[in-house]
Amino acid sequence: MTTVVDIAASERVTAYTERFREFLDNDVARLGEELAGREAGTPSQPRFDEQGRMHPAVWEARREVQRRAGGAGLYAPHAGVEVGGGGFGLVEMHHVEEFVYRHSGLGLGLAALGWTEGPNPAIEHCSGAMRERYLTPLVKGEITAAFCNTELGVGSDVLRMATHAVRDGGDWVINGTKGWITNSHFADVLQVVAVTEPGAGTRSLSMFLVDADAPGVTRGPDLPTTLADGLTGTLEFAGVRVPAENVVGEIGDGFALAMSWINWRRLCRGGMCAGWGAWLLERSVDYARRRQSGGKPIAEQQVIQHMLANMHADIYQARATSLVAQAELDGLGPYGRPLHPDAPRLISLVKVINDEAFFRVADTAVQVRGAVGLIQDSPEEKLFRVARNLRIPAGTTEIQRNAIARGLLRGRAA
Ligand SMILES: Cc1cc2nc3c(=O)[nH]c(=O)nc-3n(C[C@H](O)[C@H](O)[C@H](O)COP(=O)(O)OP(=O)(O)OC[C@H]3O[C@@H](n4cnc5c(N)ncnc54)[C@H](O)[C@@H]3O)c2cc1C
Repeated sequence: MTTVVDIAASERVTAYTERFREFLDNDVARLGEELAGREAGTPSQPRFDEQGRMHPAVWEARREVQRRAGGAGLYAPHAGVEVGGGGFGLVEMHHVEEFVYRHSGLGLGLAALGWTEGPNPAIEHCSGAMRERYLTPLVKGEITAAFCNTELGVGSDVLRMATHAVRDGGDWVINGTKGWITNSHFADVLQVVAVTEPGAGTRSLSMFLVDADAPGVTRGPDLPTTLADGLTGTLEFAGVRVPAENVVGEIGDGFALAMSWINWRRLCRGGMCAGWGAWLLERSVDYARRRQSGGKPIAEQQVIQHMLANMHADIYQARATSLVAQAELDGLGPYGRPLHPDAPRLISLVKVINDEAFFRVADTAVQVRGAVGLIQDSPEEKLFRVARNLRIPAGTTEIQRNAIARGLLRGRAA
């Protein structure tokens, strides 16, 4: 058994969250007020442009938050120190994310911490030229990225993707279509995963950095999901030519790099679900105390008390799982290539336990409110939809259980 070291928030996490709180109270609050005057919707329920994409004013408000957060050194605590990030470990990032989600709720503040559009463990392996062109601006919040792995025909079965890249002189030429890509409408740089050596298994894929304005790249229509955020779409690559310096890592590293991006998103579930869970529980306790039925607050009904207790139990155990697993992973090297053989099981435990616990929490938060919980884009209704979504992207709950079982059975002959 791995020894669990420390799950407490470090001093630099405390310093970070104090600065983040000030940033929320000042910059984010002001930008939020300006956005409210634009009749463009809210950060969690934007209006859309004629193509179904997030309203430009909401996108621009988020971008301004990102740029300012980048300037204040708040945007990329998870990125390595050597690329200009904070160099925080996984336990530290759990605490940071828990704070950010708990105190931002569904507001603009969420944009202040690098999310799928930001710097990530995969792109940190880019060449020196790409570092200057894309990675440094990403860490500063000056540009945004999209991770282009999934295709409409292939999700979980990633090694069967059709998008491919062929060598032509010193360049690579990419052809294919990616689907369900977050930030496809707006990204400046695309992290495209493509087949470079068919039949080579986990060495068959490579990752390329592609300028979103490059000839041959077409941004497709929005794919409206239950999130209703106008951020997800398709991207077509028709003979897109990139030089060899745009390869991330080495040719054949694509699967491992894609997994490092995906594992990063899986691990972020811990702090996210703990933070939003705590926010929903506070709101539920408050509502149960105020809402009267039969001449007394519903909080006096044992059935409501049990709902609150169940929410707390789910949040507590999912949070504990995240902190303990992330402490173990801090010791293993979470994004190593090759990944430590114990890492996938632990990463998938964090995702599946948090996704499923948070779904129950969000469902109960709606139930505590009755009809009020169903009002469109109220925090409870929106987070119920978000919670339903969480069980699919970055690997479905079934794929997580596959990884957990593989970890358990590894090295044990029947
Ligand atoms: C809102 C949203 C944002 C997304 N953002 C991105 C993004 O930015 N970049 C990106 O590349 N992708 C993105 N995705 C895609 C996402 O990662 C995939 O949807 C996900 O991996 C599942 O793939 P699929 O939808 O093709 O489902 P499928 O793989 O077709 O799965 C269908 C069902 O079969 C089950 N199943 C499939 N294979 C197995 C198996 N081997 N064992 C057991 N059960 C199995 C699944 O669990 C599921 O229940 C996003 C998706 C959504 C909804």
